[in-house]
Amino acid sequence: MDLAAAPPDLLVRRHLHIAGDWVDPVDGDPIPVENPATAEIVGQVPAGTPADVDRAVAAARAAFPDWAATAPAERAAHLDRLHTALAARADEIARTIALELGTPLKLAARVQAGLPLTVLRGMVDLAARPPAEESVGNSLVVREPVGVVGAITPWNYPLHQVVAKVAPALAAGCTVVLKPSELTPLTAYLLFDAIAEAGLPAGVVNLVPGTGPVVGEAIAAHPDVDLVSFTGSTVTGRRIAHLAADRIARVALELGGKSANLLLADADLPTAVKVGVGNAFLNSGQTCTAWTRMLVHRDRYDEALDLIAQVVGAYRVGDPFDPATRLGPLVSAAQAERVRGHVDRALADGARLIAGGPAVPLPTRGHFVAPTVFADVHPDSALAQEEVFGPVLAVIPFADTDEAVAIANNSRYGLAGAVWSADGERALAVARRLRTGQVDINGGAFNPLAPFGGYKQSGLGRELGAYGIDEFREIKAIQR
Ligand code: NAD
Repeated sequence: MDLAAAPPDLLVRRHLHIAGDWVDPVDGDPIPVENPATAEIVGQVPAGTPADVDRAVAAARAAFPDWAATAPAERAAHLDRLHTALAARADEIARTIALELGTPLKLAARVQAGLPLTVLRGMVDLAARPPAEESVGNSLVVREPVGVVGAITPWNYPLHQVVAKVAPALAAGCTVVLKPSELTPLTAYLLFDAIAEAGLPAGVVNLVPGTGPVVGEAIAAHPDVDLVSFTGSTVTGRRIAHLAADRIARVALELGGKSANLLLADADLPTAVKVGVGNAFLNSGQTCTAWTRMLVHRDRYDEALDLIAQVVGAYRVGDPFDPATRLGPLVSAAQAERVRGHVDRALADGARLIAGGPAVPLPTRGHFVAPTVFADVHPDSALAQEEVFGPVLAVIPFADTDEAVAIANNSRYGLAGAVWSADGERALAVARRLRTGQVDINGGAFNPLAPFGGYKQSGLGRELGAYGIDEFREIKAIQR
């Protein structure tokens, strides 16, 4: 299939997926889907209602006993068939994500379509293993699936965020009701095309598209949903935790971040800057783990600023379907407006603009923001504290390692981070001091089997790998 093929005119999906069938929604006007690079409407999906959520939860509940009792090897075989069906759609997934989110096509193919396939492949292997049982004195400790899972996902990695919930939930023996983001719902439909083709048992996974306040809240508040697994903003995560608390339902929350990238005095600066800027601006900065604060030792500060300006100067902003494009648009007009507001505020707060900013010429249609870097950012300022979720990097100098660690940990978030040093042991010692769920040393590669999640207001619980499956299990002690 030709990756650069022109996108189809209008992608219309009319159904929900409940109890193994494509079904009509109960009610509600359709939701338009926009191409953020042109601001044109390119698709449409139904808006689900609380009545649709009731139907989907009932289907998931009905399917739960059999699925929970299915042998791990058989569940793994289902996931394997799903992997095959999804892999066959990889090009279509990349194009759809380039279209509805604006991720440059090459990156969409590698990360947006490639990563979830890798995650799913890993889950096939893990799903085949029965959960560990343990004897503790006279107790047998066993792990069991938690029940019906409500999964609510964001728009920034429209397939990865879904697969990171659905695959481990299924591997654990749970059944699922999914609500994808209303900004990027078309990708979730491709997953359900694959689910239908793979022949998963009816009701094991159900799709109810719609808005957060209507469908999302109905899932989070539903008395028959045992665990709500949510990825998105900290504000919405707090709301979901409140709704679930009323019935003491379990929650798993993957929320925002303001991660620090520490360049120690002996770092390989050209590599650290190139990788650090690439990380901060990946997916137009719409990445929860983005290293949006670059902390640089004062002895190397000016050198680092020169390198940053060079690296950012080479970024091409524009059409996601143009192979030369490095940075696409932001997902929506509202998101672009929010990001511009952060830039204006940083200027007003006296940060020094060293790249990008409001004066850079950009495509006139679509929701583009120039890759922007501020130096001398005060660690307590809004730009250093608030998640921007756009291509905006804050550079902060430090005098010694203790100060670097203190600045890095001066955040209500704790999702990711990075350390660069020629001395691996020294970098490891610093990594241990960071109050975050993940730290990469000298550009250590993303590991889809490693636990992923946040300290502090970045969330509760862990996704991915064996830890991700355990998130969907209860623990029982049997005394004998
Ligand atoms: P969001 O919180 O606005 O929306 C996320 C999902 O929640 C969407 O499906 C939305 O429809 C739904 N939702 C909105 N209001 C709701 C409500 N009241 N009740 C139930 N559901 C509701 O977040 P977003 O704008 O889609 O995503 C951006 C945010 O997600 C950023 O803050 C980013 O850091 C975070 N994020 C975190 C991770 C992570 O793994 N930690 C990954 C990706 C994104």
